[in-house]
Amino acid sequence: MRGILKRYQFMGIPTYQRTLCHDVSFSGIGLHSGRNVHLTLKPAPVNYGIKFVRKDLPDDPTIPARFNCVVDTSLATVIGLDGVIVSTIEHLMACFAGLSIDNVSVELDSYEVPVMDGSAGPFTRMIMEAGIREQEAVRHFFVLKEPIEFEQDGKFVGAYPDTTFKITCNIDFEHPLIRKQSCTIEVVDYIFEREISSARTFGFLHEVEYMKRYGLARGGSLDNAVVIHEKGILNEEGLRFHDEFVRHKLLDCIGDFSLLGMPILGHIVTHKSGHAFNHAFLENFFNNKASWQTRTLPKPAEPASKTAKSLAI
Ligand SMILES: [Zn+2]
Repeated sequence: MRGILKRYQFMGIPTYQRTLCHDVSFSGIGLHSGRNVHLTLKPAPVNYGIKFVRKDLPDDPTIPARFNCVVDTSLATVIGLDGVIVSTIEHLMACFAGLSIDNVSVELDSYEVPVMDGSAGPFTRMIMEAGIREQEAVRHFFVLKEPIEFEQDGKFVGAYPDTTFKITCNIDFEHPLIRKQSCTIEVVDYIFEREISSARTFGFLHEVEYMKRYGLARGGSLDNAVVIHEKGILNEEGLRFHDEFVRHKLLDCIGDFSLLGMPILGHIVTHKSGHAFNHAFLENFFNNKASWQTRTLPKPAEPASKTAKSLAI
C-alpha cells in the first residue's frame, strides 16, 4: 500500500491540496439503475475540484460536484448540468472528503456511480493503494465565525466554530436494533478510513420491497445494503460495527458537506437529518456569508523535510 505522502499538516489537516498518484479504475453496478458502470478516477491539477465526466456522451459533458449542481436528493444525491446527470455520488464524495483529496476527475460510462458494497470502503482501499500526493497550492477552508443553525420538522443541522473538522450525527429510529445512536468523529484520513469508510447503507425491508415493486433499487441486494426487518437484519454476516447505522449517516454527511466545494473547519452537528435536509442546510450556509470566512492554514516556520517520506496509514 502506497498510503499518503504527508508533508505540511496543521493539527492533522493537510495544508496543501491533494490528488491521486495514479489512475484508479473499477466496475460495479448502480444501486438504482442496476446497470454495470465502469469508472476511472484520474489525478487532476490544483484548483480543479471534483468533477464527474460522462464519457458515454458526445463531447464528454462535465459536472462539478457542487451543491448548486444538485438536482435531486430523494433516493440518492444526483448532480446535473444542461440535462446531463450523475447519480448516487455521495459515498465516493465522502471518500474524497474523508481522505482530504481536493482534485479528481471522475470519468464514467453511465449515469450512476457503482454502489460497491454499500459503503465507501472499496473506494477508500483502491485510492489508498494508488496513493495520494500533495500538490503545489495551499488548500482554502470555510472557517465558522459564529454558529449557523437550521431546524425544521424535528430535523436539525448546526455548524459551530472549531479548530478542526468534526461531525456529530444523531439518529432516532423506532426500531429495537437502532433507537437513539450518536457518533462524533474528527474527519481526518486515518480516522475516516478506520471508523467510517466501511459502514454500509441500510434500509427497512418494507421500503426495499416498495422500491423494487416500482422498479427502483434494481441493483440493491444483501451484498450492498443492510436490510432491517422487524426483529433484526437479513444479512447473515451481521453488522460491521454495533452502531453501523449512525456511522453510515455520518459517512453520508461527510459526502453531503463536501459539496460546498471546500473543506470546513468547524463542528457540524446533525439530528435526524438526511440528504435532502443536509442540502437545504448547505444553501443556508452558503448564503449566510457573515457567519464564515475562507482562509488557508498556517504553514510551519521551517519545512520538516523537503524530501518527505511516504507513510502508510
Ligand atoms: Zn449513504
